[in-house]
Amino acid sequence: MSAFAPQPEGTRKVAFHVHTNRSFDSLVQPGVLVRACLAQGVRTLCVTDHDTIDGALAVRSLAMTSSLQVIVGAEYKTDLGDVIGLFLHEEVKMRDALRVVRAIHAQGGIAILPHPFHAHPDGAELFQLVDAIEVFNGRCSLGENEKAFALATRLQKPMLVGSDAHFLSELSNATMRFSGDKQLLPADLLTRPRSWKGHSARPTTLRASQGVKGLKTRSPRLAASATLAVLKHAACEMLGMSDRYSTEGEWSLVSSRATTASK
Ligand SMILES: [Zn+2]
Ligand SMILES: [Zn+2]
Repeated sequence: MSAFAPQPEGTRKVAFHVHTNRSFDSLVQPGVLVRACLAQGVRTLCVTDHDTIDGALAVRSLAMTSSLQVIVGAEYKTDLGDVIGLFLHEEVKMRDALRVVRAIHAQGGIAILPHPFHAHPDGAELFQLVDAIEVFNGRCSLGENEKAFALATRLQKPMLVGSDAHFLSELSNATMRFSGDKQLLPADLLTRPRSWKGHSARPTTLRASQGVKGLKTRSPRLAASATLAVLKHAACEMLGMSDRYSTEGEWSLVSSRATTASK
């Protein structure tokens, strides 16, 4: 029998790498996120705002009486690119990548490398240190994701996929099914077999979060250029010129697989 248990029964739907309005480029309210997860059958949600665990703490307290497990995390900007910490209790203050990973481990958390080939200059040392690698990110190009999968395969690191949702419409762009329906402990993220489905985000969505960033940081120039980009991509989509793609895969301690298809 396969090591994988893709049937919904006896599995747990997990959303990893999701932002809230505590991030400078998202407007998603914690309460709305909790309701969306419950409606979509997500049982474990990892909230990973930019440089703060505040959003995750807010979501966790709102979900306390529900069946949704909220893992407190953050996506920290470091000198070697973004690093995600999960199962955090305290904010990580430093920005030196190797010290960030150590600080995550010191509080019993796990360190995950998101989108390794998107804004990660010279990450070789960091790639070795992290506990797991995001092999599909809903906001990355096909090439970036294929390289991430190859990297995790070469380094024999556990694989996760993330929507990197900044809007609610992106939440279901990448979800995993973990075998077993119990809540996830740190070790489960690194050992339990899982399968996944991923869809790349619409280009208009990517540009729209630049517009949100422009509004929240009071940068009219950024907001205006993002609006123009949204219109341009919307026109391309109407003409059927979108280059979105989808992927499926699975990972266990003994094997992994991923297949990608154009949409
Ligand atoms: Zn990132
Ligand atoms: Zn992110």
